[in-house]
Amino acid sequence: MFASRYLVRFDDICSTMNWRIWAEIESCLHAHDIKPIIAIVPRNRDKKLIVDIPRRDFWERVREWQALGWVIGLHGYEHRMITASGGIVDINPKSEFAGVAREVQYTKLQQAVRIFEDEGVRPDVWVAPWHSFDANTLDVLKRLGIGCVSDGFGMHPWRDELGLLWVPQQQWQFRRIPFGMWTVCHHHNLWNRGELDRFIRDIATFSRQIISFDEVRRRNYGERSALDCLSDVTFHRMLRMRLLVKKPKDQRVDVNRYLE
Ligand SMILES: [Zn+2]
Repeated sequence: MFASRYLVRFDDICSTMNWRIWAEIESCLHAHDIKPIIAIVPRNRDKKLIVDIPRRDFWERVREWQALGWVIGLHGYEHRMITASGGIVDINPKSEFAGVAREVQYTKLQQAVRIFEDEGVRPDVWVAPWHSFDANTLDVLKRLGIGCVSDGFGMHPWRDELGLLWVPQQQWQFRRIPFGMWTVCHHHNLWNRGELDRFIRDIATFSRQIISFDEVRRRNYGERSALDCLSDVTFHRMLRMRLLVKKPKDQRVDVNRYLE
């Protein structure tokens, strides 16, 4: 049995997402009793996330997921690119928040949280669109009572100087690693049958190593270790190399598809 642990995350969850694929994902998650992080766009204005006709019972579903112990992520406000800043994590030069004035960020995030509250849903963790946000974003999140961030690189969670718990997110497909804690982020909107089948296979393979965000949140974590800081730099370089490496056109990694 490996000592490593995995968290499952789904981004770009909104009323117009790909519900056909989602139905199979959801039954797979239930079958293995997996409690994922579900990153919800509170007020979607990104045309790329309009894949299906809007579900009228969307928020009802979200309330059910939260009642089951699934963890609800705040995935920005409108999922609109405002700046070309990579922010703190700096893997994608697109942002709805990084480089935006603090007062504007406060207003947007306050409205985002209000949408959740009006729907009777509590956002547990920050999941930035395009992984991009800055120090002002973190300060505003803290003021709004959101104490966790799902982002960054490293092998273990840590607490920053504001007291926010960072749970790193380092994989976009399950990869076997014998140690550490790994969040595997999925974007199902454009999945085909093969990608869905791979996910279902991966969940069956890794199910005994998958834990819930709540289990992570209950543990005590201190500052980031020197080893984790070093691994941050290494992951960052490896990811950039993987994304930027020249490949024949049909094999090239679609960066946007993975990092939104
Ligand atoms: Zn997104």
